Amino acid sequence: MSSTQDNKSLALQASKLPVPASNIMPDTISLNKWEDTGFEWAGEIIPKAFERLVSVLNTEHEQANILLDAKLYRLNNVLHLAFTLKGEVWLTCQRCLQPIAVDLGDEYDIALLDNESQIHLIREEQDYLLLEEIVTEQSPERLLPFKKLIEDEILLKTPMAPKHDDCEMSVEQFGEIPEEEETENPFAALASLKGKL
Ligand SMILES: [Zn+2]
Repeated sequence: MSSTQDNKSLALQASKLPVPASNIMPDTISLNKWEDTGFEWAGEIIPKAFERLVSVLNTEHEQANILLDAKLYRLNNVLHLAFTLKGEVWLTCQRCLQPIAVDLGDEYDIALLDNESQIHLIREEQDYLLLEEIVTEQSPERLLPFKKLIEDEILLKTPMAPKHDDCEMSVEQFGEIPEEEETENPFAALASLKGKL
């Protein structure tokens, strides 16, 4: 075997590093450990693993895993959580009650401010949250509720009353279908939280 071939097979092996057997999405990220060095996590997430999301998922249609690629980083000395989602969830059409796919694919970026004095460090249109309001534990270490924040964004991306664009159910025979009462809206509170603290 020539040395060229050896190099080739080494390069091949390097590109096929095994995925860690346990690549489960962390519930929380230790800020003490990672807020200075940055943190990255990529993998598949299971829609049913999110307690609040599961209540709106269609139970008849199979739910595929969603790809998540997330990182903590600093910009202007402000901590950010950025992530991309690729995939969809199946909800229930509020008109015909059949499954409807909702695409979650998007890029998300939330500034995590130590306090309100940092607001001037971020762009006006930047989403932000105050760390003191979301950090679940302060000791022995400060934990960022990673999974909860991802779920919040998924819920915000998810329409409260999804309907097929070309729903086959005839609407006319019933006349106007009344809009859902706003009282049954579990996500409105979330929407009003962001950026309005
Ligand atoms: Zn429909």
